[in-house]
Amino acid sequence: MDIIVLKHSATKKEIHHIVKKLLNKGFKTNISKGTERTVIGVIGDTSKVTDEENSTFEILPGVEKIYRILKPFKLASRDFKPKNTVIRIGRNTIGAKKIHVLAGPCAVENMPALLKIAKEVKKAGATFIRGGAFKPRTSPYSFQGLGEEGLKILADVREKTGLPVVTELMDPRDIDVIIKYADVIQIGARNMQNFRLLQEVGSHNKPVLLKRGLSATIKELLMAAEYIMAQGNNKVILCERGIRTFETATRNTLDLTAVPVLKKLSHLPVIVDPSHGAGKWDLVAPMAKAAIAAGADGLMIEVHSNPEEALSDGEQSLKPHRFKTLMKELKAIAKVIGREI
Ligand code: PEP
Ligand code: MN
Repeated sequence: MDIIVLKHSATKKEIHHIVKKLLNKGFKTNISKGTERTVIGVIGDTSKVTDEENSTFEILPGVEKIYRILKPFKLASRDFKPKNTVIRIGRNTIGAKKIHVLAGPCAVENMPALLKIAKEVKKAGATFIRGGAFKPRTSPYSFQGLGEEGLKILADVREKTGLPVVTELMDPRDIDVIIKYADVIQIGARNMQNFRLLQEVGSHNKPVLLKRGLSATIKELLMAAEYIMAQGNNKVILCERGIRTFETATRNTLDLTAVPVLKKLSHLPVIVDPSHGAGKWDLVAPMAKAAIAAGADGLMIEVHSNPEEALSDGEQSLKPHRFKTLMKELKAIAKVIGREI
């Protein structure tokens, strides 16, 4: 018993009774109201539910059918919710026809620099500004980000440009300050399996951009999304950003097959980050184009006015004029596949 599909005629009272019975058994529920029918997702360890117990639910008024899901992820699964999830962020909707491009520097460095980049990427068609205030650096001696000061700069830039802000949360202790300033909370690759962090963002209702771990399988990525959703936050955007392989010619190996695989297994929006995937600026454009052709709902691209001087990830950052050219090409590709940028 994982999914309870309700009859069209199910009344509020009947639904309430089913939910109460589930809660009494120690389960949580997630109700998804589609245009066709309403479905109750049963959250908790359902593997121990016996066939007898299952049939006591099957006979309840309002119940059409009960399904067991064999996949370990449930709420993130397309079996649970066949229709694509569309996430509304201000005036933007991620997961619908429009492809969104989230652009900006790896790290927030200072106000004038971020504002300059934001204005340029916006003009080229980007719909979100990205930038890290808390940076997960490999070396403890590298620039660690501006912290709250960086978040204030991001919020100021949103004020001046109208672009919503995407920024990374690394530590549950910073959740309140991130929520105050960000429109989308990024969970970075290194924290994809930081389960306490996932539960923390799951217990708020800010959209979460969940990046695939450096050596995580697609199933592990979906289980990480499940951690967030099990706490009640369904606004999860999945992000393929490259995985570690034996290949050394690129920083990571961008796994573009993850896009159609994730789309098949899950209803959640999928975006691609070709900047971290490739790790070199000249590889970003071809991989961005391929990602759109593969069906991604969006892209995250690092842009810096002066990559040579960037405090992090300069080698993979596009200069604004190159970003502009790429956006033009992406628009053409989007059109061919019936989407828009
Ligand atoms: C980033 O987006 O700047 C970042 C650190 O990404 P990732 O977690 O994918 O390495
Ligand atoms: Mn980066």
